Amino acid sequence: MFRQAKWNEPIILENPDKGFTGLSLDSYSDSTSRAVGEIKIPKGVLRETPPSIPGLPEVEVVRHYTRLSQMSYGVDNGPVPLGSCTMKYNPRIAWEIAFDERIANLHPLQDERTVQGLLEILFELQKWLANITGMDVCTLHPAAGAHGELAGVLTIRRYHEVKGRADLKREIIVPDSAHGTNPASASMAGFVTVTVPTGEDGNIDMEALRAVVGKRTAGLMITNPSTLGLFEERIGDIVKLVHEYDALLYYDGANLNGILGYARPGDMGFDIAHLNLHKTFSSPHGGGGPGAGPVCVKDRVVDETRNIRLSDLLPGYLVVYDEEKGIYRLKHPGPHSVGLIKSFFGNVVPLVWAYVYIASLGPQGLRRVSEHAVLATNYFIKLIEGVRGFEIPYGKGRFRKNEVVLSARPLAEETGVTAMDVAKGLLDAGFYAPTVYFPLIVKEALQVEFTESETIENIERYAERLKEISRVAYENPDEAKKWPINTSVKIIDYVKGDHPRTLAPTWRVYVRKQRGELS
Ligand SMILES: *Cc1c(COP(=O)(O)O)cnc(C)c1O
Repeated sequence: MFRQAKWNEPIILENPDKGFTGLSLDSYSDSTSRAVGEIKIPKGVLRETPPSIPGLPEVEVVRHYTRLSQMSYGVDNGPVPLGSCTMKYNPRIAWEIAFDERIANLHPLQDERTVQGLLEILFELQKWLANITGMDVCTLHPAAGAHGELAGVLTIRRYHEVKGRADLKREIIVPDSAHGTNPASASMAGFVTVTVPTGEDGNIDMEALRAVVGKRTAGLMITNPSTLGLFEERIGDIVKLVHEYDALLYYDGANLNGILGYARPGDMGFDIAHLNLHKTFSSPHGGGGPGAGPVCVKDRVVDETRNIRLSDLLPGYLVVYDEEKGIYRLKHPGPHSVGLIKSFFGNVVPLVWAYVYIASLGPQGLRRVSEHAVLATNYFIKLIEGVRGFEIPYGKGRFRKNEVVLSARPLAEETGVTAMDVAKGLLDAGFYAPTVYFPLIVKEALQVEFTESETIENIERYAERLKEISRVAYENPDEAKKWPINTSVKIIDYVKGDHPRTLAPTWRVYVRKQRGELS
């Protein structure tokens, strides 16, 4: 499929200075000097030697950046079935609007009256997200999923503080299939996390849950569908049980792709939910841009006599419509709020992006997103069922939602070819690798998610490649251990790769290696 540029082809930074320049300062000053006058740079700040960057013609500079882009891989090159991360196509219509200069050039300190258009977009988005989640109030303040979680668990903590029993409510329950950010967020907010196991059927082990829910329980965080792609069948019982102890239910809605338009956390009984606009709602992520992790709550009463509601505890700003003045404005967090966890409005570009995505699809379109995403997952499962070396643990025979977790455990045991090697075998054929070794409860895990935007042909090619990998692993495991061969970068040293000071990804280190200055 996609051929990556080789990383060891020379890049312009290694070229000697050819004395070219892409900019003629003479003509520049001719046309502008009258307007700007002569610029006098103080002696003290003038550099003594020119910067050591190569002088190159424009065409070489363009080629440089194009080649760098080809050394990378993204959803614009091919499928990125990165389970849990929901890498879907980023529609260009949203790009055009989110980067329109009338939005991109706004300043967060501008008078509210001069940014009414943007505030209206954010106000509408708050309402739409409340509708999509079945909640009452949403804040767009948090900058990512994990940031939304932190906002959410801080809200849980404040809830118990307002009720005067924060000392007792110390524990947050998290299933063992959870995204790692869940226990991390709970710990950051000062809670102790209590883990509950997943049963063979893919649901939470109810008996184990009953054993740990109690007076000390502050809340429960859960992803539904779980990271196994399975819908929690006893969610109603779980909600009831946790509410009996006046603990709050937190919904990790990073991956809403499997139930969008069909099920809502608010209807399931959750009190707080965050969404990842940079997953479900198509804003670019990974290296592609900043995220947005809005948090939505049911506006339940926290303290009747003081008239405090759950939305009063939320962090950051809310966009409200001021009926009297007839304008949109930012409502600053009140005395019971957990405060600011970020400056200003939130990350505006991914917010506007999600707004356009939702507006362009409409309610029926959003439903079709999840229909197609679920269909893609289950079609893929059918294609790879029975491929030697792979199995699908938990919830045998159950339909998956947005994603599926394969286990390469039999393959690893029988041939020595691990999930990591399988991932590299996919990379070698021009696919992006799935999420590997997550969720932690699945041995040799490969978590695959195609989303609604992948074509049937690509899903079939991906499945074919998995079959080929299985065949090679059983026939010639040594060959499988050599993957990848066709990528820009081959096998890296994981230990060094995890240690930023020893990793050598920059041109500087590369050049010094070439010169023999580094071993
Ligand atoms: C991605 C993800 C998160 C964290 O979101 P970030 O924006 O990466 O911080 C949390 N939970 C689940 C289930 C996720 O998939």
